[in-house]
Amino acid sequence: MNERNRESMAPELQVHRPTIAKREANLLASPVREDLVGRFVGKRYLLRTYGCQMNEHDTEIMAGLLEQMGYQATGQEEEADLILFNTCAVRENAENKVFGEIGRVRPLKARNPELLLGICGCMPQEKAVQDKVQKTYPWVDLVFGTHNLHRLPELVESAIHSQETVMEVWDHSDLVIDELPKVRQEGVRAFVNIQYGCNKFCTYCIVPFTRGRERSRTIESIVKEVRELIENGYRDITLLGQNVNDYGLDLDTSFAQLLREVGKIDGVERIRFTTSNPWNFTDDLIEAIASTPSVCEHIHLPVQSGSNRILKAMNRGYTTAYYQQLIAKIRHAIPSIALTTDLIVGFPGETQEDFEATLDLVREVQYDTAYTFIYSPRQGTPAATMTDLVDPIIAKERLQRLMDVQNVISRDYNEKLIGSVVEVLVEGPSRTNPDVLQGRTRTNKLVHIKREEGMMRSLVMARIDAANTWTLKGSVLR
Ligand code: SF4
Repeated sequence: MNERNRESMAPELQVHRPTIAKREANLLASPVREDLVGRFVGKRYLLRTYGCQMNEHDTEIMAGLLEQMGYQATGQEEEADLILFNTCAVRENAENKVFGEIGRVRPLKARNPELLLGICGCMPQEKAVQDKVQKTYPWVDLVFGTHNLHRLPELVESAIHSQETVMEVWDHSDLVIDELPKVRQEGVRAFVNIQYGCNKFCTYCIVPFTRGRERSRTIESIVKEVRELIENGYRDITLLGQNVNDYGLDLDTSFAQLLREVGKIDGVERIRFTTSNPWNFTDDLIEAIASTPSVCEHIHLPVQSGSNRILKAMNRGYTTAYYQQLIAKIRHAIPSIALTTDLIVGFPGETQEDFEATLDLVREVQYDTAYTFIYSPRQGTPAATMTDLVDPIIAKERLQRLMDVQNVISRDYNEKLIGSVVEVLVEGPSRTNPDVLQGRTRTNKLVHIKREEGMMRSLVMARIDAANTWTLKGSVLR
């Protein structure tokens, strides 16, 4: 299916649209208006983040803006003067959870009338959510979306002086704003946005409606940010976009070119990227991944279904034959590559035969890992109007069967690594056992090793001693 048809499937949303020249905004003199810098010393903020890595990254930016205003972070709701929910709209239950939270924190406002409550991220991009907040949650002070993060300082100022809910949601934007301040998470891993939005309009997906059209940052600004991260001790950098393969189409460059340029930076050790898609996965891109030493041997390549009939209904734009040819090309060029994917079961109209086709594809491709989901209708997406729904019990059974098939494959891969020696970048203490450190291989496998002094953030060689479906256990070689 060609691009033009896909675009025409996009319904219109009607909200505010400030006019700002495209790229000039890149160079906002100062992201925080001078008179707001440091004005809020002594005030505390709390940011709750839901959803994807893109939201985590937006949270780092909002924290950066608030700290330039003088706010300091707190983990305690009772101490906060500003609580912001950075929301996800991919699943209905994600939305219900946020509305539950907004209700739960209401009493805090009774105790501290100065407290500002706000929601941002993908949920406010939906008109239905804006109306619901105005009608049902009038104690929310601030509502803004994914396109005007940089406006946070002014919006906070307005909310402080307003009796009404300050709501500013841009329905779309062609802005690419670089150089916004960020408070990065401690550690060795960092995420760098290379592109915003998505032009693909998969029928089940809300992202093109909440994050707008694809627009790329310049290679220069990305290289500058990666270089700064390396200078600050980050060793594992993930390039982020909804559809990284199409990076640079609006700038007359390419994702392959970006990888090569980032790969030239002094001291660069590990480069990753997500999310890639089967479209526009050119031979040149495969060559760039294979020949750039710092680009890790892991590709996340969502397929979503093994049935061509369902792929068509999802508007995915490729067939399983095309997808498997691509996998074969990638494996030929990079034999040590680890492949992971996303899979949806229970999409409207999915028959038992369609589902069996998905199981067949998983058995044929042999992914290292697969992230599996039951279809969740999203209001405003074309798929939400489809009627031939799959019985939730059947969908659940299919999900379990799919996970059973994939878990055997994942375990086999991990068990084959027992006795081998792998390079592990130590990230920090394991979440489950403080005496254990966790790190990652270049193929993105999680490895647990015995905790020893001076090992944090270091690259070590480890022999794999044990494996399960999800993780490996290793001992460091001296
Ligand atoms: S490519 Fe990904 S982000 Fe874009 S519409 Fe499809 S599923 Fe959504």
